[in-house]
Amino acid sequence: MDETPQNTQLVYDAEDEYRPEPTVPAGPPAWQDGSLRIGIHTSIAGDIAQSLEIAHALGANALQIFSASPRMWHSHGSAADSTAGPGREKFSAVAMARFRARREELQLGPLVVHANYLINLASPDRVLRVRSIQAFHDELVRAVALGADYLVVHPGASRGGDARQAAGAVAQSLRQAARNVKLGSLRILLENTAGQGTVLGSTFSELKFILDLCPDLPVGVCIDTAHMFAAGFNIREAEGLDKTLQAIQSTVGLARVYIIHCNDSKTPLASRVDRHEHIGEGKIGLDAFRRILNHPLLAPAAAGQEKEPAAGGVGRAFILETPIDKPGDDLKNVRTLWKLSGKPAPVPAGSAAPRDGFRVRAKKRKRPAARKTSSKKRAAARSRGVAKKKR
Ligand SMILES: [Zn+2]
Ligand SMILES: [Zn+2]
Repeated sequence: MDETPQNTQLVYDAEDEYRPEPTVPAGPPAWQDGSLRIGIHTSIAGDIAQSLEIAHALGANALQIFSASPRMWHSHGSAADSTAGPGREKFSAVAMARFRARREELQLGPLVVHANYLINLASPDRVLRVRSIQAFHDELVRAVALGADYLVVHPGASRGGDARQAAGAVAQSLRQAARNVKLGSLRILLENTAGQGTVLGSTFSELKFILDLCPDLPVGVCIDTAHMFAAGFNIREAEGLDKTLQAIQSTVGLARVYIIHCNDSKTPLASRVDRHEHIGEGKIGLDAFRRILNHPLLAPAAAGQEKEPAAGGVGRAFILETPIDKPGDDLKNVRTLWKLSGKPAPVPAGSAAPRDGFRVRAKKRKRPAARKTSSKKRAAARSRGVAKKKR
């Protein structure tokens, strides 16, 4: 193995690239009103603004997107570039402005961007690490240009190297990638992992170790339910959830948890294998998600009004990353989360008629069980592409 120490000056000249000026909001954004925010990862294929329409039509009031194709490397400087190449990996400044305006109209928040899966900020391979730093720098630039609130990234993998050293490399890479970027209100969130192979971040103390090395950066944590479960945190049980939240509180701190990725798990407890499943159809189960959505320590708080300062909650959201095995799965998972939360799905003001005909009921009405089922079936039938009535 190459014993050459990591070059700490792996910077490149970014002077000539497009650098968006973050828009400085006058106060906290409107969506930080303490209301429950439920979002879903939506596709940017075709037109990036279409992701907003999809999330809105599904009944979500928050969303997560990739800002470019997540499984390929992009040439450096792939920000707002009017010479957008084939494959639409790049979005023009006009497209990004339209995206920001439409998001405002639909009152979707927070907007979460998930970073490219190829990025490994911990890589012991210098070439891969420099490429990762550049790619993450581009992720930051694009997230700022889109007006995103959070950029979620996996810590990376040590690939056989020393785990502590690799964790230190992550922090150093983050700082280098963020150099000369005006982040505005964008926050970088490290996501916990299932701990497969040499992947870092399956324990909260490991995430804390990295965060502590970045005191000058706006950082936080994204916790993924499927990853926690696969990493051995038994959040399926009420007691296990409480213990897990204690483990978070005593390490990274709950106040630094901004996003909760809600995914059921195809794989069993402590499997260390990351396979997402529909809510209620995996090893975690509906009851566990009901507890998670309603847990006081995970509740969102209005800006400036944290009820439990230690638990934070301002800007917190629950985001689905569930698979779409058949048309309508996304709608089903969003509806399941709202139902488990016991809160009505909102209808944002100023919204156009949803394209697919699905409309979230504005009023919550008590119905007999039989009526409820038939109304549910009617709603499912109205939704785009739902061919089968199986739920
Ligand atoms: Zn992730
Ligand atoms: Zn996740």
